[in-house]
Amino acid sequence: MGFSIYIHIPFCKTKCSYCDFFSITNLDKQQTFIDTLEKETDACANDDRLTGKTLNTIFFGGGTPSLMTPDDIYSLMKLIIRSFPLASHTEISMEINPDDLTNSKLNGYIAAGINRFSLGVQSLDNSELRILQRRHNADSARSAINLLRSNDVNFSVDLIYGIPNQSVDSWLQTLASVIELAPRHISMYCLTLEDGTRLQQSINSGVLSLPDDEIVRAMYLSAIEMLTESGFAQYEISNFARNGFECRHNMAYWTGKPYLGLGPSSASYIHPFRWKNVSDIDCYITEVNKSGKAVSEIDEITPDTALREYVMLFLRLTSGLDLSEFENRFGIDFISAHREILERYYSHGLLSYDSDFVRLTPEGMFVSNEIISNLI
Ligand code: SF4
Repeated sequence: MGFSIYIHIPFCKTKCSYCDFFSITNLDKQQTFIDTLEKETDACANDDRLTGKTLNTIFFGGGTPSLMTPDDIYSLMKLIIRSFPLASHTEISMEINPDDLTNSKLNGYIAAGINRFSLGVQSLDNSELRILQRRHNADSARSAINLLRSNDVNFSVDLIYGIPNQSVDSWLQTLASVIELAPRHISMYCLTLEDGTRLQQSINSGVLSLPDDEIVRAMYLSAIEMLTESGFAQYEISNFARNGFECRHNMAYWTGKPYLGLGPSSASYIHPFRWKNVSDIDCYITEVNKSGKAVSEIDEITPDTALREYVMLFLRLTSGLDLSEFENRFGIDFISAHREILERYYSHGLLSYDSDFVRLTPEGMFVSNEIISNLI
């Protein structure tokens, strides 16, 4: 079986109001970080569990990977390729901020091996972008998309709905404009209030308020309708793609495939262990320079955890939970074990099941957390 690599680039020029991902705005440590990342990559190449395994997907996430120069990406790619054989069509994705993209940078990334770009557009409404405290505006987002199109590269657009002051209409206008710009993949995430963020402070102090649940529900369901009518197939709660353009890296997470995380705060999974790197740049640099690794937490996955994760992950997917595979793996008849709960959600139109699969309906996907927590 092959595996995936996730590389966390922990720098952002400014911090968005809603974001609690690990990133810092002091860019002075970028070069030291890149040198350290190369050392960590080298150290992981000697991990017996990965030796000889083929690399199916690579994902540069963050933070803001597009703050890295094409040369930085190229030298990292060289190191990775030296250590791990690539599959014949390795998907190599990179998150980019619209503000960072120029034609020469884009061509540099392509030359370094990136073959899929994930553009953080979030909204095409300037007042919503200001609430999110994004660096770009609607015009720069459109220009970035047009640049990607004119270079004929595979790209995805990330959007956020449920923004304070956002109406169903303004959300659907953003979505319709993005669809018109012809990405092959769209991710749409419901805005969540994370602890310690500036957005949470604004909500708590009454400066801003989130749209009501019913409005957010209407945003989600009408977006599914619009995307489906426009030829996108939903394959996960928040992800839609034209046929054949699903994100293989994220699919690897959702189907329990092994992955290696590099960089501070990145997560890794190689059965039966999950581990996480330290979420501190100085500590990351010190630890990697000492031992080649900077792991802060490690968990062994018990059979019970494996079962819960399986249910949690597969019910996210529109393909659903395969009942015979579940029974083969865990020795449990899922339907008999959960008949009462399944019937309740079925009667409310939140899930469907037959003798082969259990699947959430679009309405069920909107409340997936509640359904899944009652099933595990
Ligand atoms: S650019 Fe991304 S990682 Fe950086 S602060 Fe904004 S949302 Fe967070």
